[in-house]
Amino acid sequence: MNRVPVRRRHVVLVATVTAALSYAASPADSVRAAASTAVDVLHYDATVTPDPAARTVVGAVRIRFQALAVLDEITLDRGALEVDSAAVDGVAVAVTPAARRAVVRFQPAVPAGAIRELDLTYHGTPGAGLQFPADRAQVYTIFTTSDWMPSVDRPDDRATLRLRVELPAAWTAAGVGRAGAVTTAGDGRRRHEWQLDQAAPTYTFGFAAAPFTAVTSGRLRFLGEGFSGDELRRIFAETEGMLRFFEDRAGVPFPHATYTQALVARTVGQEMSGLSLLSDAYGRAVLADPTAISLAAHEAAHQWWGNLVTCESWSHFWLNEGMATFMAAAYLETRQGRPAYDRAVSRFRAEYARVRDAGGDKALVFPDWNRPSADDRTLVYQKGALALHELRVLLGDERFWPALRAYTRGAAGRSVTTPDFQRAIEQATGRDLSAFFDRWVYGR
Ligand SMILES: [Zn+2]
Repeated sequence: MNRVPVRRRHVVLVATVTAALSYAASPADSVRAAASTAVDVLHYDATVTPDPAARTVVGAVRIRFQALAVLDEITLDRGALEVDSAAVDGVAVAVTPAARRAVVRFQPAVPAGAIRELDLTYHGTPGAGLQFPADRAQVYTIFTTSDWMPSVDRPDDRATLRLRVELPAAWTAAGVGRAGAVTTAGDGRRRHEWQLDQAAPTYTFGFAAAPFTAVTSGRLRFLGEGFSGDELRRIFAETEGMLRFFEDRAGVPFPHATYTQALVARTVGQEMSGLSLLSDAYGRAVLADPTAISLAAHEAAHQWWGNLVTCESWSHFWLNEGMATFMAAAYLETRQGRPAYDRAVSRFRAEYARVRDAGGDKALVFPDWNRPSADDRTLVYQKGALALHELRVLLGDERFWPALRAYTRGAAGRSVTTPDFQRAIEQATGRDLSAFFDRWVYGR
């Protein structure tokens, strides 16, 4: 995202403004409310207290943002949370709820380029973004950060994070970024704290907590409940090798000091900044068959393709998911030989053929990703991975891998579109790939 020049922080001269918290959303608000594009969030500083018994959360977040245009309001994603108070640079401001969003109005307007701090307090029953599994003493986040912290959930808005989470005293926790001290928070809780210094999209924010067994191995940390330390080491025996392989293929070192993998009750796999969640079922499957590691490789690949190089909007989601799916197959190739890679590609091809033969084929760049079907997901993941395999075949390994490195290095820390990807590969190889992209990416 382009940023306007940073100006000195504006001093708010208005002494008092009465908060006008109205929850009578008008239809106009619902129509107008859309994730703000004229704002760049720089930093979130949050304290979150989940209540596992009640399956609720209360929290406070300070959002430091820069206005990219004159702003008389911004719209935040909030899921089902209710905002209890809002203030800008210490002065109360009005908040109006809209569908899954909250509109914060500024008076006077925030000038273009100005940086402000918006303080919110909130509470509520989170949606799927904060999981309290029914039969377990656990809490963990899945993808949608605005379900537990009001935020701008667009994948092209990268911000740093300081997160404190208050949890039952007996629980072990993992979060994104550097772990700070664990302190006593009262009511039998302890406060865990993390600081994420590399700006990242909010979907990579989060934490997981439970009475975990924890194992540390070099830069790696493995967490699981109901698994022994020895079992966790076996389940994640390949993790260091995965990180080294992806570092080599990306041409970019792993961007965090530590990498934590946690097994939780239920997830299809979730990538956060320096933290991945996999399910207990995944752990048991690897104990039964140590070669069944594709999913952990997929999530580890996201540390580069997804978290570090992010699709600019969900329309280009295949750049995250097709890439991670393809890279997991490439990792299997190095560890288990070419037949393992070929089997993975055959599965991509068969899954794609099933959707295509049923008339469900679409371009990999979607008009939107608001209500994707299972077939749409198959296209983004498996057709996307197959397209990357076909690109590898077209270019040959001696051109494909250096081009992928050039793309990844050039886009590290940024959000990108499919044309950005095409341009990077064309520049690195000196080839016009428009026919390839027309067939595999834009065509159907
Ligand atoms: Zn993925």
